[in-house]
Amino acid sequence: MKTWDVIVIGGGVIGLSLALALRRGATVVVVERGEPGREASHAAGGMLVDCGLELPEPLQPLAVSSARMYPEFARELQLESGMNVDLRDYGTIVIPPPEHVQERPGFTVNSLLPASLSELEPALAEPGQPAFYLKERSVDPRGLVSAVLKTAKLRGVDFSSGDEVTAVKMAEGRVTGVTTNKTSFHASKVVNCAGAWSGKIAPHRFPTRPVKGQMLCLVMPSRTLLKHVIRSPHAYLIPRSDGRLLVGATVEEAGFDKRTDAATIQRLHHAALELVPQLREAKILEDWAGLRPGTPDALPILGATETPGYYVATGHFRDGILLAPITALVMTAVIEGRAPEHDLSAFSPARFQ
Ligand SMILES: Cc1cc2nc3c(=O)[nH]c(=O)nc-3n(C[C@H](O)[C@H](O)[C@H](O)COP(=O)(O)OP(=O)(O)OC[C@H]3O[C@@H](n4cnc5c(N)ncnc54)[C@H](O)[C@@H]3O)c2cc1C
Repeated sequence: MKTWDVIVIGGGVIGLSLALALRRGATVVVVERGEPGREASHAAGGMLVDCGLELPEPLQPLAVSSARMYPEFARELQLESGMNVDLRDYGTIVIPPPEHVQERPGFTVNSLLPASLSELEPALAEPGQPAFYLKERSVDPRGLVSAVLKTAKLRGVDFSSGDEVTAVKMAEGRVTGVTTNKTSFHASKVVNCAGAWSGKIAPHRFPTRPVKGQMLCLVMPSRTLLKHVIRSPHAYLIPRSDGRLLVGATVEEAGFDKRTDAATIQRLHHAALELVPQLREAKILEDWAGLRPGTPDALPILGATETPGYYVATGHFRDGILLAPITALVMTAVIEGRAPEHDLSAFSPARFQ
């Protein structure tokens, strides 16, 4: 009977990054219901939002650490996989809703534009209200997931795709593996990284829920039409170095429905044209929807469960691309029985019992 040290349930950005980190000291298999990296991690925009003004307070230390880890994380993945993750460092221009500026004066003190808006982004329409600058990066989540997947394979992580975990197996009160729709896998440690679906796997029903996001992708008339990420109250725009421009995103409670809706996509398109009129000449490449893993308090669920050998890393909601490197780091420490680099008590699975 083949056994592994650790089974990772779910091959999204969280499960893949964790598998890669665990592989340094353990044998690891990722068991994935579909194809790795095709759910929320494929649908994401890729903004690495570590700004304290836009994140729940308990998440800030993790967000800041993870954002700091990104250049090295990306460099290592690119080097090993030979793939490009398009980590961009131009920063973000935020046009916040006016009430936001009054509520959070930090925007005005710390986030002044380094030059006039027309110098920074000549194609951006004059917003008629203050704009601010944040020094945050962006990444291409599809490139990132492909690079982590390839690197994980090169480093000897095993994969079983098209294999849906139906339950975590236990004997004498501790974990012994997982049962899937096809077979079973054996390990003394199991980590649930099943994103929005994490709560469906027995025996622990983590309170994750899907939060739908619809997005639109345009091809800019010129690759350099926009440099910065732009966030306005109606839409955000994320330029990629190959000339694509992502326009996002809705935040909807719609169950596990991943269909897009023509009127919503049109509204996003219209918001993009209001921000950058020259996008009238842009081609529409595709639209899609993905399911963010939400939790009742909008914080991730990270740590050991009450069942010995069973761990969870889920509920990353709107920030899972950003939080992948730090999640891999702290969860590897927890699973290896070391003290994690951050206090994880705010994210404990026990808070929902
Ligand atoms: C429209 C949109 C925009 C976003 N923009 C950003 C952004 O700009 N920046 C950012 O940081 N984050 C963003 N996010 C959030 C980010 O995408 C998620 O937080 C992150 O992808 C979660 O990763 P995950 O690995 O937990 O989940 P997923 O990528 O959903 O992976 C979970 C995996 O588990 C598998 N699975 C489920 N059930 C089972 C089972 N029973 N057995 C085996 N496998 C199973 C699934 O098939 C899936 O592959 C965005 C999300 C959306 C939808």
